Amino acid sequence: MTVKPRIALIPHASPTSPAARAALMENPGFGKVFSDHMVTITWSVERGWHDGAVKARAPFAIDPAAAVLHYAQEIFEGMKAYRTKDGLALFRPEENARRLNLSAERMAMPPIPEDLFIEAVETLVRIDADWVPEGDGSLYLRPFMFASEAFLGVRPASEYIFCVIASPVGAYFKGGYKAVTVWVSDDYTRAAPGGTGAAKCGGNYAASLIAQAEATRNGCDQVVFLDAAERRWIEELGGMNVFFVMDDKRIVTPPLGTILPGITRASIMKLAAEAGYTVEERLYGFDEWQADAKSGKLREAFACGTAAVIAGIGTVKFRDGSFAIGNSGDGEVTSQLRAKLVGVQRGTVKDDHGWVRKI
Ligand SMILES: *Cc1c(COP(=O)(O)O)cnc(C)c1O
Repeated sequence: MTVKPRIALIPHASPTSPAARAALMENPGFGKVFSDHMVTITWSVERGWHDGAVKARAPFAIDPAAAVLHYAQEIFEGMKAYRTKDGLALFRPEENARRLNLSAERMAMPPIPEDLFIEAVETLVRIDADWVPEGDGSLYLRPFMFASEAFLGVRPASEYIFCVIASPVGAYFKGGYKAVTVWVSDDYTRAAPGGTGAAKCGGNYAASLIAQAEATRNGCDQVVFLDAAERRWIEELGGMNVFFVMDDKRIVTPPLGTILPGITRASIMKLAAEAGYTVEERLYGFDEWQADAKSGKLREAFACGTAAVIAGIGTVKFRDGSFAIGNSGDGEVTSQLRAKLVGVQRGTVKDDHGWVRKI
């Protein structure tokens, strides 16, 4: 008896030619170019996870009454495949699998077995291996899940689709590294206690776009959110966690709760502690941030996430003014931590933690 594979292989009938692919990958930007295939797996109450396949990337046919279009039951992950000297590799994919299931729980969606999640991601990277860029680029992977049941009643849906797509991306900082300017929003908040701030769901992003647009209007790259209750404590950026480097070998980062538990954040906390810094997860106020930047106690600040890895924060703007941090450029600690983390991800620095998973 042959065992039916969990993810059936249905290769693309006419994949992109090598010449066309090379042209697309020359300057891919972020999230604009996509590989040939996708993985889909369906879930229903009756059958659980079934009908897994890796096949030609194509639009979905979903019913106009699909629950996701009305009540936004959608969650996602973001991760990258890297081309290393020993072949292709992922960075801590088990953490993405675990986090997707935490998001699923919060959004009343079914969990996906962690090994099936990883198998789906690896299957896609294998079949689309030629889409993993050389050099500074990487293949950005976007696993996501949404409610596909056609039903307008308000309750958790009874059918879902899990999907993984892949997008070759260039270096985040095109034309060389540059510290970012951030806008501290006092009109909008991202998450409240008891809300969905710790879940990686599309709805959080929908609610953050107006604040990001305000940041852009004010000449900033990113928005920084304060807590919803007191409008005082720094939470995170639109899609990145934040760290503050003090003059006494202390590094401060906001505690988990209403923020997204970043895998980059967790990795940096570990690397920083090993490099001899005292890492404090604690509430840090916007008033403190201004005072510490002014007094020089705060030497550096940086944002972190899978897309940019680590981005120094040079200038902070808000309704009543602005201030600079350190030399407004890349700080020493920021660049040291970035070099270490990027090195581990790309296989040029020893991986002491078993974070790199070869494909
Ligand atoms: C994904 C995400 C991050 C960063 O998480 P990583 O696992 O480090 O990529 C931070 N904040 C928000 C809101 C996010 O969605």
